[in-house]
Amino acid sequence: MLIKDHAICIRALDYSETSQILTLFTRAAGKISVIAKGSKRPKSAFDGPLEVFSYGRIVFSDSTKEKLVTLTEFEQQPGFANLANNLFALNCCLFGAELVNSLTNEHDPHPELFDGFLRFLQNTNEKQKTKNEKQKTLSLLILFQLTLLREIGLQPILSYCVNCKNNFKTDWPQTYFSSSANGLVCGDCEASFPDKIELTKNAANCLLVLSKPVLGAPVLSNVEVVEGADAKLIAEAQERTLNEIEKILVHHFTEILHRQPKMAKYVLKS
Ligand SMILES: [Zn+2]
Repeated sequence: MLIKDHAICIRALDYSETSQILTLFTRAAGKISVIAKGSKRPKSAFDGPLEVFSYGRIVFSDSTKEKLVTLTEFEQQPGFANLANNLFALNCCLFGAELVNSLTNEHDPHPELFDGFLRFLQNTNEKQKTKNEKQKTLSLLILFQLTLLREIGLQPILSYCVNCKNNFKTDWPQTYFSSSANGLVCGDCEASFPDKIELTKNAANCLLVLSKPVLGAPVLSNVEVVEGADAKLIAEAQERTLNEIEKILVHHFTEILHRQPKMAKYVLKS
């Protein structure tokens, strides 16, 4: 049986002179490993060789028993060409792809995560009109990482102390984040959480704002999503605060995965 779906390539390896093995994140089937026979030939059913972030409609053979699925078509849509000219944006997107690959299981569908990932790539790829380019890219990465955590069932608690349940207020004398507790910890409770990291007031506040799920616009028919809620949130966020948040998130993903994601250092350092 042949199955149609939408997919974003998150990993591509050469298999032979003419074929590739790909990890695709699909909308309806989740992550799948496929073999694309003949994809490197000049004329193929894949519109040319496939690479990370190739995106479009696919057809693949259903073979739940076999681990490797055969890809029969990949109708590539215009990709994310601007990423090639912006190393920081490219690294942020590669970081996103690495996290999707590390934190989802094969054949475990996450359509909303797929939409969020596609929206993240589209928004990051969009030609930057402001001088706060890096700030915008970092905001988009953080929004995507929070979407990812929510969609895989690890949404952090950012509106109240995980221990005493008191609501977060910007006048808390200290605010901490504990990875093991998956959320905020207040100054009265911090002693019980040895892994806590102190957050600035701005970072805690910004995290709370960014984590509100107001970003669920359907994406397949609607590319124009930087306007509205995202843009407003992004404008409010400051680069220093964003860097602090990203550092916390990298720490959190490192705890979840028991290793630091490979792309993290390129995003934190630059
Ligand atoms: Zn507390």
